[in-house]
Amino acid sequence: MSAKIISGKEVAQQIREELKKEVVELKEKHNVVPGLVTILVGEDPASISYVTGKQRTAHDLNFHSIQDNQPVDISEEDLLKLIDKYNNDPKIHGILVQLPLPKGIDEKKILNAIDPDKDVDGFHPVNVGRLMIGGKEAKYLPCTPSGIQELILRAGFQTEGAEVVVVGRSNIVGKPIANIMLQKAAGANSTVTVVHTRTRDMESHCKRADILIVAAGVPGLVKPEWIKPGSCVIDVGVNRVGEKISEKTGKKIAILKGDVDFEAAKEIAGAITPVPGGVGPMTITMLMKNTVKAAKFACGIN
Ligand code: NAP
Repeated sequence: MSAKIISGKEVAQQIREELKKEVVELKEKHNVVPGLVTILVGEDPASISYVTGKQRTAHDLNFHSIQDNQPVDISEEDLLKLIDKYNNDPKIHGILVQLPLPKGIDEKKILNAIDPDKDVDGFHPVNVGRLMIGGKEAKYLPCTPSGIQELILRAGFQTEGAEVVVVGRSNIVGKPIANIMLQKAAGANSTVTVVHTRTRDMESHCKRADILIVAAGVPGLVKPEWIKPGSCVIDVGVNRVGEKISEKTGKKIAILKGDVDFEAAKEIAGAITPVPGGVGPMTITMLMKNTVKAAKFACGIN
């Protein structure tokens, strides 16, 4: 039987509807509007497109949103001052600095200057530490990994006691999703294995996964015979493997493939995310969810 296709687009839409209600409630009960600033330095087209997507979503959700564009030659000192300004702005609950930053600016220094309580991206070392500690300490989960957890849960998979295998150990996907799934908490409580380029016999690990999360950036890395029948497969990989002409716009667009051989894998797995349209649409939505959370914290709701 063919696997259930987990649509990130649909789940993201569901979460956005839930967030819309929360935004109305926050305004009515606490007179608070979630505030998000996205800071863009320079004019890199990909970065412009990412921040535009984030701003559009924030706008749709009726956030107080600011797009702060800075010239490519802004000094590190001035950028730090700008962050300080937003750290002290009570109307702003979330600060996002679009990466990469131009050469000559120390990215780590900039990201570490964000108030951890406004770090809705969840990458500040304080928030990484909070995630490790878990429980109520875990304030903002990084967006792509928390989106992955939502997809697994909303697809109806039991995580408690499940064998979760994560392919990849990056700081932005592999390590945080492994950490999220092993927390002693509802929606987690899994037995987690992380595999990477130095792992011996990756196939044997993948084969026992009830939930297989693949974030390697290698098209077709996971072979269909590595997949446990009936399992949940989350393909995080986004690999450009060519170009085609869009039927909608007539323009050239990238052909994207995941890290899993989707067509073959869907005949074995119980559920699987497509690429594109799986994990991708979740990231911005979870950024919005973190911003609503930040606004709630700011008015004393946990
Ligand atoms: P990354 O920083 O390059 O990390 C890749 C990880 O995969 C590394 O830990 C690496 O192992 C491991 N790996 C690579 N090749 C492998 C192989 N042949 N066998 C086993 N392990 C292998 O990548 P990332 O930032 O985590 O991103 C991974 C993929 O997810 C990319 O395609 C990226 O575009 C995509 N992504 C999507 C979203 C989204 O949809 N919103 C967000 C983030 C990332 P070592 O540590 O041993 O080198």
